[in-house]
Amino acid sequence: MTPVIDVHAHFHTPSSNRIDWERYNASRLNAGERIGVVCHVASVLGSWGATSPTYFSSPADQTRANDWMLDFAEQQSPRVKAWVAVNPNYTAHALAEIARGVARGAIGIKLAAGRRVDDALLDDIAAAAAQYGVPILQHIWQHRRRDWPNQDASDGVELARLAARHPRTTFLLAHIGGGGDWAHTNPAVREFENIVMDLSGSGIDRGMIDEALRWVGARRLLWAADLTLCTGLTKLRALPFTGASDDDLADMCWRNAVRIFPVGTFAAALSGAASGSGATA
Ligand SMILES: [Zn+2]
Repeated sequence: MTPVIDVHAHFHTPSSNRIDWERYNASRLNAGERIGVVCHVASVLGSWGATSPTYFSSPADQTRANDWMLDFAEQQSPRVKAWVAVNPNYTAHALAEIARGVARGAIGIKLAAGRRVDDALLDDIAAAAAQYGVPILQHIWQHRRRDWPNQDASDGVELARLAARHPRTTFLLAHIGGGGDWAHTNPAVREFENIVMDLSGSGIDRGMIDEALRWVGARRLLWAADLTLCTGLTKLRALPFTGASDDDLADMCWRNAVRIFPVGTFAAALSGAASGSGATA
């Protein structure tokens, strides 16, 4: 089985409003193991709405969430790694969280939909990513035609504007299967080599991955699952039917992740996969 790195995962915490949070987390890890996931790169968005809105988490909620996530990654090492999630509306707090998170082992920065991504408020955060050598996972609504309640969503065109201002920062465009029209995203980001895309989201349209491959190529696509593994599994099973070569499949399943995150991030997870425990190369 090809090892798989899930670059867009989430977990729940005792501060979120799910009484079954531990069972949810355990089932994610168990199901991940069954389908070959050797590492989940995960974040927690504040209290998931319990005490501040998911996409506009309060500084206190976000600090608590990051603390929990960093502890969990430590406990579950090497099969879980952390994104440090921040709300760009509190820029000073966000920058302090990034410094603190990276020092504690976070390997990237997660931005949800708290602020439109081409806003100048994002510049300091994009610069910090380049400074620390970590990518940014940016929540994207594919072809945003209007505003949506409870989020300041952005689409590929808007992410491209930020990426153009920060050519040294790698941006992982979240969930091509999320939100509206995925076909709009490919031409919007094609010429921006520092934008790569994750395959997660509930959309599993026929042709979605094929078109992304045609426009940006396998070196810029990363398999991921986001909130649940079920649609991720569908796309994992669909990958070989796109006609992608074994090399392209390895790129999308794990090698691009090795390239965009700090050197050595997945060494232990991948060597565990190579030496047995179900997943063999
Ligand atoms: Zn997400």
